[in-house]
Amino acid sequence: MRFNTALLHDGVDLKETYGSTLPPVYQTSAFHHGSAEEMAAIFEHRAPGYNYTRVGNPTLTAFENRITRLENGAASVAFASGMAAISNAVLTIVSSGDEIVASRGLYGGTYYLFKDLRTLGISTSFVDITDRRSVEEAITDRTKLIFAETIGNPSLEVTDIRMLSEVAKAHGIPLIIDNTAATAWLVRPLDLGADIVINSTSKYVNGSGSAISGVLTDGGKFNWKSPKFPEFAAFAKFGRFTFTAKLRSGFARDLGGCLSPMNAFLNIIGLETLGLRMKKACDNALLLAQWLNSNHPELQVNYPGLPGTRTHDTALKTLSNGFGAILTLRAGSREKAFTIMNRLKLVYRISNIGDARTLIIHPGSTLARDNTPEERESSGVYDDLLRISLGIEDAEDIIDDLRQAIETD
Ligand SMILES: *Cc1c(COP(=O)(O)O)cnc(C)c1O
Repeated sequence: MRFNTALLHDGVDLKETYGSTLPPVYQTSAFHHGSAEEMAAIFEHRAPGYNYTRVGNPTLTAFENRITRLENGAASVAFASGMAAISNAVLTIVSSGDEIVASRGLYGGTYYLFKDLRTLGISTSFVDITDRRSVEEAITDRTKLIFAETIGNPSLEVTDIRMLSEVAKAHGIPLIIDNTAATAWLVRPLDLGADIVINSTSKYVNGSGSAISGVLTDGGKFNWKSPKFPEFAAFAKFGRFTFTAKLRSGFARDLGGCLSPMNAFLNIIGLETLGLRMKKACDNALLLAQWLNSNHPELQVNYPGLPGTRTHDTALKTLSNGFGAILTLRAGSREKAFTIMNRLKLVYRISNIGDARTLIIHPGSTLARDNTPEERESSGVYDDLLRISLGIEDAEDIIDDLRQAIETD
């Protein structure tokens, strides 16, 4: 099945749902069992079934299975937010004394998390992830993982996943890719050699901004038997599910960041139109980028789909179907950026990305406000920078709104 057909039909068994094309919402905290033996068997993972929604729920399973197929992985675990998915992925691998090598242009929440981890004795080297030598030089004997985003936010630099995967493999460490800004519509990181992929499904997967959620997908191919990862030995019997088994019987259960069944259901609905929405949003982004580039070159539009942007060549060989739906521009000063924002009538002033509606934000005064000026500069957050997340409106209406906001005196 092709992309959009698979989103609607792949793996869907209508017999399990009495013919309902959508899975039911099991809006329950816990599950009754016919006998004490049955209950014990489920607790011990000897029998399939559910006990408690923090640990598992059929609606969550339906959502996780759809994401696993979408990302071409071995197994997925859903969480209450993208940040919960990232925290769980990382904490399942690193412990006190370990190190992480990550992109210097990470999503703000992830950047703050990695800084928070210092209090647990876990340190992170933030590097130019597009530069193989910088990545290699940052890796030490204590490095346990490489973390990058397919499309950096708001730098919009596209990561060479194949290159990073080679580096990770040479050092026997896993590569985690946050695919939120790209989605499987543009690339399946596991197919390019990543070991674990994260999606903040609050964004494009949900698509309407109706629920916060995140999901982690394990490719099932990383060799956890290496002496670098002794804590995984006890889970080696689970084969390609080694990582997922450690996660599910560890932090996923114990930190308690479970997704609500209703929110999983909202995401399942969103997933059905992911391909259509991504196509339209990416087309809109390219059209707006081209319009800005030809009519307002002074605004220095940054979009990976434009020839001449720093990672355009990586984008061409890494992404298919488009270049993402986010672009940035530089207004010249913070005041001018605010003026453009305030004049917009259609585009929403919202901190999100990946909504069906077009959204704008000034990252310097909001998302990155806790960063030092040096941190902002190195992650591409300039004081006059505006980030636009394109929605699926008619492109002409978005361009008209930007035109009146930029060209009014
Ligand atoms: C939004 C976002 C996250 C965090 O997701 P939440 O669902 O808001 O916790 C992580 N990574 C990227 C790239 C994001 O855009």
